[in-house]
Amino acid sequence: MLTTARRTHGFRESVIRGMTRLAREHNSLNLAQGFPNFPAPEALKEAAVRAIRGDINQYAITWGAHRLRTVLARTYMQRYGLEADPEREITVTCGATEAMIATLLALVNPGDEVIVFEPFYENYGPDTILADARPVYVPLEPGRPLDLARLAAAFTPRTRAIVVNTPSNPSGRVLDRSELEAIRDLCVTHDALAVTDEIYEHIIYSGEHIPIATLPGMRERTITISGASKTFSVTGWRIGWIIAPAELTDAIRKVHDFLTVGAPAPLQEGVADALGQLDEGFYRQLAHGYRARRDLLQGALTDAGFRSVSPDGAYYILADFSALSETASGGGPPLDDTAFAVWLSREVGVTPVPGSSFFREGGGGRSLVRFVFCKTEDVLAEAARRLRSIGRGGGQRPVEAATRSGLQR
Ligand code: GLN
Repeated sequence: MLTTARRTHGFRESVIRGMTRLAREHNSLNLAQGFPNFPAPEALKEAAVRAIRGDINQYAITWGAHRLRTVLARTYMQRYGLEADPEREITVTCGATEAMIATLLALVNPGDEVIVFEPFYENYGPDTILADARPVYVPLEPGRPLDLARLAAAFTPRTRAIVVNTPSNPSGRVLDRSELEAIRDLCVTHDALAVTDEIYEHIIYSGEHIPIATLPGMRERTITISGASKTFSVTGWRIGWIIAPAELTDAIRKVHDFLTVGAPAPLQEGVADALGQLDEGFYRQLAHGYRARRDLLQGALTDAGFRSVSPDGAYYILADFSALSETASGGGPPLDDTAFAVWLSREVGVTPVPGSSFFREGGGGRSLVRFVFCKTEDVLAEAARRLRSIGRGGGQRPVEAATRSGLQR
């Protein structure tokens, strides 16, 4: 009898990717998976095209094209005062996703505990399982400060690492300096690593992004992960990176090499050019544009009867649908998050992600759904119109309008 490996048995399928398929099936607006539908910066595209025309078609050095690593070192120094040796401390990966799993595989031992904030981006669960580690969850809720007592209680002698995702998906929290210092103190006391996911570092509305590696005592125990996907709106390019101390980088690079050999060579050139050429105005405009989209979507959610907290960063809104459950169930028993998300997708033409996929199995999120607002204004305006229609007429699906307007992407 052929069976699959036990380590995969604890996996849940990616609900985020599943909802994208459902949105297609329902011909519904996909506010589930976080990918932008607007164009990438010209400088980035032109540089990648030039690289392909110039026949940069073969493997880059496994840990990343030299030019990209050099530009990254300069960028982190200028932006955050974070010094990194491009030869020994920077690794280019296939997106932040590969960066996270390569890091955990390289640095975490079977049976180690890894602290993860909850709600969490759904990949972190399987990442810890693949590394044979045990996730330990600590709440980090929208609009609420990190509960430092609970965080302290979560650290044990088996704690090997904490995953720090700020700005955070899906809570929208941006950890402030005092929260990061508290995490730092615990990491130092317990000799633990901080593995960060800073992919939303430029999508921030209040507060500031502070890489935890810049706090005294953290550089030597932090694995800083980020990438091009969200900053340059190129989630399909799969260009991410890792900054970590040389000894840790040695192990991470080996795992990375055996997993993927390397990230796409011509696209690394594109990202290097964009990082080198785009000025502060680009990053300011990115955050500015997202703020307007956030307000547009949140206004509609509030009008429709959802409860949510305005995110401080990233491009997600976690919304409580309790007040709409009766409308959705047609007066029957209240719907759980999955049933509500499917109803909203099919009947209203807007597809979110069920909240429970951001919580441990059997945990919270049953009255929550997550919406993305990384979409152009026409898509968000149409989503807003549909959401506002829920109360009036009980979510009749404006299918024709959807098809006519060609908004499905
Ligand atoms: N990070 C994005 C999200 O949470 C995209 C996830 C993915 O499918 N890679 O929706």
